[in-house]
Amino acid sequence: LALPTPRTIIIKNGTLIDGTGKERSQLDLSIRDDIIDGVGDYKKASADLVIDATGKFVVPGFIDVQSHSDSYWTLFTVPNQDSLVEQGVTSIIMGNCGSSIAPLVEPDAIKSIQKWADISEVQLNWLTLAELYQVLEKRGVPLNVGTLIGHSTVRRGILKEEVREMTAEELGMFRKVVEDAMRDGAFGVSFGLAYSHANFTTLAELIEVGKMVSSLSGYLSFHLRFDDERFDESVAEVIEVGKQAHVPVHISHLRANGTAAWPKLDRAVELVDEAVRAGVDVSFNIYPYNITLSVLYNYLPQWFSRGGKTKLLERIKNERLRARVIEEMRRQGINYADMLIAQAPRNRALAGKTVNEMALGSGLSVEETVLNTLLAADGQVIVMDATVRDEDVRRLLAHARSVVGTDAAGYDLRYRGELVHPRSFGTFPRVIAKYVRDERLLTFEGAIQKMTSWPAARLGLQRRGIIKSQNFADIVVLDPATVQDEATKDHPYRFPTGIEHVFINGKPVHGPFKQANPMAGYILRRGQS
Ligand SMILES: [Zn+2]
Repeated sequence: LALPTPRTIIIKNGTLIDGTGKERSQLDLSIRDDIIDGVGDYKKASADLVIDATGKFVVPGFIDVQSHSDSYWTLFTVPNQDSLVEQGVTSIIMGNCGSSIAPLVEPDAIKSIQKWADISEVQLNWLTLAELYQVLEKRGVPLNVGTLIGHSTVRRGILKEEVREMTAEELGMFRKVVEDAMRDGAFGVSFGLAYSHANFTTLAELIEVGKMVSSLSGYLSFHLRFDDERFDESVAEVIEVGKQAHVPVHISHLRANGTAAWPKLDRAVELVDEAVRAGVDVSFNIYPYNITLSVLYNYLPQWFSRGGKTKLLERIKNERLRARVIEEMRRQGINYADMLIAQAPRNRALAGKTVNEMALGSGLSVEETVLNTLLAADGQVIVMDATVRDEDVRRLLAHARSVVGTDAAGYDLRYRGELVHPRSFGTFPRVIAKYVRDERLLTFEGAIQKMTSWPAARLGLQRRGIIKSQNFADIVVLDPATVQDEATKDHPYRFPTGIEHVFINGKPVHGPFKQANPMAGYILRRGQS
């Protein structure tokens, strides 16, 4: 039985946390169509749907600036994006870590997402961002969707399989593509400097792109170049771009990832603080877990994967280079043995085992097992391991420049032959349950701000991220006493509890009044509300 769509909704008797950081208040709100048409006393008013939120918190829908629903392709394969909607996410910004699914200079540029997704079955019927948005608007989107422009994706379209610096003429082409996509509504450009097709990018090129984006009032987002003992240098590089190009810069999933990076976190935080004092607009996002989900080849010494997947596979088969990289891997101090193979889209049977289990089964060394696994999976392996310290998560979450982001794609409860990171299901409830209610690291008001108005400000969204009259009605009603993430590393496919209602553009998308297949999202465009 399909529920009728309510045109007017009242949410009353709840505790309102409006997203600005302002202290909570006992105000009701009234929704008409897709808009909040009033905040005040609606205890006696009537509407198509009246929700009694006694004992509950009413907050703005969460804005996830660090989404991978495009690059893992689940935007198309999991049309309802349930794992995001059920945790209260109402808007996602895609195109992160250097890769977007538009604009494509040519269809082959989509290869820039093949480190995450199996692109062999992908059907493309767009090239430009405007064309992608036409496709999405026709299909419908379950939540609000915006994007950054992937630097690696555009670069790949221009340079094809070549991996080198761009010429002046190519930079001119790059500029044209960026200008067009920004005009189509992109929010800026993202970089994936650790990845094989981007780690050739010079500081000069970063600044050049930064200047383009600055003149179009966008921002830059960075997956850092190094996760090792050069972690702090990578943060310094981002800040240098912000300073020289006068452009807002944002660091993706900031974390000290692995033992070599841990001692560098102090310096990295200091660099951010100094930059903020010097007037650089720098921010970062963080997901609240000590577990990382990473592309396996990225752990290898960088020369070994340079030039991309084909080169990597050739080097694995070359006896001399193979022996050399195994030597280096032994000296890296990276715990390959405990890595859990989470995803291998070209060879799904590999998922669910640790490297050590496979090594024991085959009688080969851990290093040889890593290389053989890459070969068996056509180079595309994603691993999960606990490489981040809990105290660092706390420190970064509490930092004045951090916002919460999933760094994940949306899924549903169906197991498709791969393990996902629990952050896909639990990021936002986990921050509230663990770091606000249980550990009191943040106030409710402060944490909600990091999920709503701050990300909206970074994006320049005028009418989302704050509950006030005439803003879009993206609303979450949660129970502060029971809210809890339930997804774990071993059992990631679990929805959180305590997120009671979610509304996107005034439509109930989660909870007892949920519409069937609501597709309530809008396309988010820079400069529009
Ligand atoms: Zn990334």
